[in-house]
Amino acid sequence: MEIKSAEFTISNSSVEKCPDTQAPEYAFIGRSNVGKSSLINMLTNNKKLAKTSATPGKTLLINHFLINQEWYLVDLPGYGYAKRSKKEQDKLQHIISSYILRREQMTNLFVLIDSRHEPQKIDLEFIEWLGENGIPFSIVFTKADKSKTSKLKTNIFSYLKKLKEQWEELPPHFITSSEDRTGRTELLDYIEHINKSL
Ligand code: GDP
Repeated sequence: MEIKSAEFTISNSSVEKCPDTQAPEYAFIGRSNVGKSSLINMLTNNKKLAKTSATPGKTLLINHFLINQEWYLVDLPGYGYAKRSKKEQDKLQHIISSYILRREQMTNLFVLIDSRHEPQKIDLEFIEWLGENGIPFSIVFTKADKSKTSKLKTNIFSYLKKLKEQWEELPPHFITSSEDRTGRTELLDYIEHINKSL
């Protein structure tokens, strides 16, 4: 898929205020600092579309970006930021879960995982929760450029092996780097393929 246009539409803190359209939505989520903003900017060829972590974990907003006048890319708030108050964490959980469970336009959720790290409990629990609720999702490994190829392969293999303990069938996965644009074509083609099948 070619990106012809990418426009910021709206930021809000509740699913009720999301755009009132039927366009398909592809949402992106992950732990704070996983590289979500960088990935969104890389995908859309716009260095400033999503704000990269100036204040990590501070945004509790759902951001909609209209792509090619056809579909929305949705930037969900990052989870797992340690310095959040309990009240903020509860609010965050509410925003995330109500969007994911109630937004019928959400066609696929991309769950971002830092390719350098061992499987983290918070991500595995989140993925399990997606499964329990029948949410369509894919895994996006980020920051692939930061590891040597052999190490990257080992990390991803062990991650998928861990997921295999929970899942009979693995979700689709993508290996990306916002630095060298690895995985961009694959991810955009995947979205295009789903759009065409709707
Ligand atoms: P977010 O909090 O998930 O939105 O993460 P950001 O996109 O703000 O990225 C967090 C940090 O990781 C920043 O310092 C980025 O420059 C860096 N980063 C993000 N993606 C990549 C990547 O693909 N490769 C490298 N080397 N660094 C990255």
